[in-house]
Amino acid sequence: MEYKAFLIKYAEIGTKGKNRYVFEDILCKRIKEHVESIGDFSVRREYGRIFLEAEGNYDYEDLIAELRKVFGIIGICPIVVEDTVQFDAIREKAIAYMKECYGDQKLTFKVNARRANKAFPMQSMELNAEIGHYLLEAFLNYSVDVHKPDVLLNIEIRDRVYLYSATIKGAGGLPVGTNGKAMLLLSGGIDSPVAGYMIAKRGVELEAVYFNAPPYTSERAKQKVIDLARIVSGYSGRIRLHIVNFTDIQLAIYEKCPHEELTIIMRRYMMRIAEQLAKQNDCQALITGESIGQVASQTMQSLTCTNEVCTIPVFRPCIGMDKQEIIDISEEIDTYETSILPYEDCCTIFVAKHPVTKPILDVIKRSEEKLTDEIEDMLRKAIDTVEVVIVEA
Ligand code: ATP
Ligand code: MG
Repeated sequence: MEYKAFLIKYAEIGTKGKNRYVFEDILCKRIKEHVESIGDFSVRREYGRIFLEAEGNYDYEDLIAELRKVFGIIGICPIVVEDTVQFDAIREKAIAYMKECYGDQKLTFKVNARRANKAFPMQSMELNAEIGHYLLEAFLNYSVDVHKPDVLLNIEIRDRVYLYSATIKGAGGLPVGTNGKAMLLLSGGIDSPVAGYMIAKRGVELEAVYFNAPPYTSERAKQKVIDLARIVSGYSGRIRLHIVNFTDIQLAIYEKCPHEELTIIMRRYMMRIAEQLAKQNDCQALITGESIGQVASQTMQSLTCTNEVCTIPVFRPCIGMDKQEIIDISEEIDTYETSILPYEDCCTIFVAKHPVTKPILDVIKRSEEKLTDEIEDMLRKAIDTVEVVIVEA
């Protein structure tokens, strides 16, 4: 069957009153942006529903794949439309629809009519019974099951009539743009793209920052991060990726600070710079891919030390997840294959053999004092020389 129209279902939690219109408007806008590359579509709101209608030819699989990336959608129902709002026309359409979708295979069904257009003379219950009767007559292998039908045939009577029976699961969450903006610390690893995806799913727009250490890290490592940002932007929408040259700071830390504290001190400077960039770009929070205990720099004590330099909230959506759970999401969102490409990361080059796992904040702060002469200039330079790459799927 060639579908020309789709009913888009979204969760209504937190969408009462005025907020609801804002939510719906933003969701419509996001849908339009996503389907733009697939073909010509109109998107409109109608009584707490969103309708998407194709104005021309398009690829069905591509459209569904794209709609499944839009946060805020919980279900996508391919529908057929009957323009004549009369019983006979509805009956014929229902029979034709069932025939095309399911043929005369053995199945149980239930008709679920909804009369939004009160000018239509029959009540919903009556329509259920009547259409059910004709379907039983037309298909010898069908039977009715009102509790657990194989097929639930929905018939919505509006200014036109909509028929549908299947709901394709959407991504859920909230439309991006309904909950502010945050700065994602995006490395080339597995965790941070997943963290960005999870926060974007709550309606948060993303910017990202990557700490690069040329010539210790290669162009390919940088390209990998750009590629990851592009995959995440397929869900979150356009991402401004800030690429910071972190080499001088890293070398200074390496030269002046105890080697077992390198990672913690480095992470603290990353957070400081990320927070500066966040404030300059109207981001209200930071996002990292940290998870308790995953590596030495992510023990409770280490997280405490890293967190201490931040004044804005730091979201760590992977914090309570096992590595495998994070990997499962990265496979689902298609970042995994890129994340595991073996290009070196700035953190891996300067790591100590035996990093501290229980750093003490005062000790770390004292080590950082060894940098005071030069560090302010270095931080300013790192921020002033940021390269911004705009990434879009
Ligand atoms: P990931 O898989 O996300 O790289 P990881 O397990 O390698 O995480 P760490 O290297 O300790 O963990 O980094 C923890 C978090 O710090 C990352 O999830 C990311 O948010 C941030 N981060 C680490 N390195 C960088 C970098 N070079 N640029 C930007 N952010 C970084
Ligand atoms: Mg990493």
